[in-house]
Amino acid sequence: MSTPAWRVLPDEWKGLLAGRGLRPFRADQILQCLYRDYIQDWDLATTLPKDFRETLKAEFPLAPPTLLDRTDAADGTAKLLLGLADGESVETVVIPAKGRLTQCVSSQVGCAMGCVFCASGSAGLVRSLAAEEIVGQVMAAQALFATPENRRQGSGLCLTNLVVMGMGEPFANYDETLLALKILNAGRGPNLGARHITISTCGIVPGFARLAAEGLQFELSVSLHAPNDELRSRLMPVNRRWPIDELLDACAAYTRQTGRVVTFEYTLVRGVNDSRACAEELARRLRRLPDCKVNLIPLSPVAHRPDLQTPDESVQLAFLDVLMKARIQTMLRRSRGKDASAACGQLRLRHGARRP
Ligand code: SAH
Repeated sequence: MSTPAWRVLPDEWKGLLAGRGLRPFRADQILQCLYRDYIQDWDLATTLPKDFRETLKAEFPLAPPTLLDRTDAADGTAKLLLGLADGESVETVVIPAKGRLTQCVSSQVGCAMGCVFCASGSAGLVRSLAAEEIVGQVMAAQALFATPENRRQGSGLCLTNLVVMGMGEPFANYDETLLALKILNAGRGPNLGARHITISTCGIVPGFARLAAEGLQFELSVSLHAPNDELRSRLMPVNRRWPIDELLDACAAYTRQTGRVVTFEYTLVRGVNDSRACAEELARRLRRLPDCKVNLIPLSPVAHRPDLQTPDESVQLAFLDVLMKARIQTMLRRSRGKDASAACGQLRLRHGARRP
């Protein structure tokens, strides 16, 4: 049986080759081709003998995603729609900022979580991505954006940061997402530092303990979006299964175990969760945690819910002010790539995503 090349952990290559009666010393050459030259086609691995390339094609296929669409925003943000082998598609966004190049990758096609303001979830889940499809999104960005200047020393990767904040819920596709991140983090692979990789979850509580037990230093973001269960359950159905207290306890345990501070995402929706009372309640609620950060994100309006709108800037700033005065480390995020349909799931919808 063949194994896609982009789902092999760098340290496993030797054993896999030996298991197939192939010479293990080729592992180093393979890793060089995959994660220093970033080839997307074994025919380009010209350092390897031709018959060996044929073996690799059959045993460890490379199936890069195809670029279906690309929109570039004035601020440099580029949103890509990538086609997968079975005809499905996923979005990924590349965001340049002050010496950084951050990529936002998807973990699923569509999403089952049904958060009301999210375009990805509006048509439900189609399927989870395989690890090689998550790694493939990074390889596609590498092929498009790497220049001699921006390739990082040692690994040649152009990205400095990765966030799993695209389509899908990473903890609903835990194993494949983690495998992909371990490959991207591997020293002999793309060598992207764990502290430069952020997983964002809507709050699937069992995922927290699993991630803490991995002993890796990934950053964890949690989509909170409301200060109480009544409101959060209306915005995020997942809250009915894992309400806020349980979620915050899981966050506190994660911080205790890993030493990593959790960041809460809070999307501000006009007249829904943006009041001063909401900000005060949130500040009180977060006292349950020894330490945390908050990212406020003004809503990016979505077509399926025209009733949900972005609050005025003065309201955003007032919300920020309450949290800052409560000594909570808070950032008000500027929306990036607005003119590139960069809100979660929007580009795929514009292309007429298939309903599951
Ligand atoms: N499922 C994961 C990761 C994907 S969504 C999660 O829920 O965290 C990444 C972030 O974008 C989440 O915080 C999500 O709630 C937010 N988001 C989704 N749609 C949005 C929109 N229209 N405007 C602003 N933020 C949005």
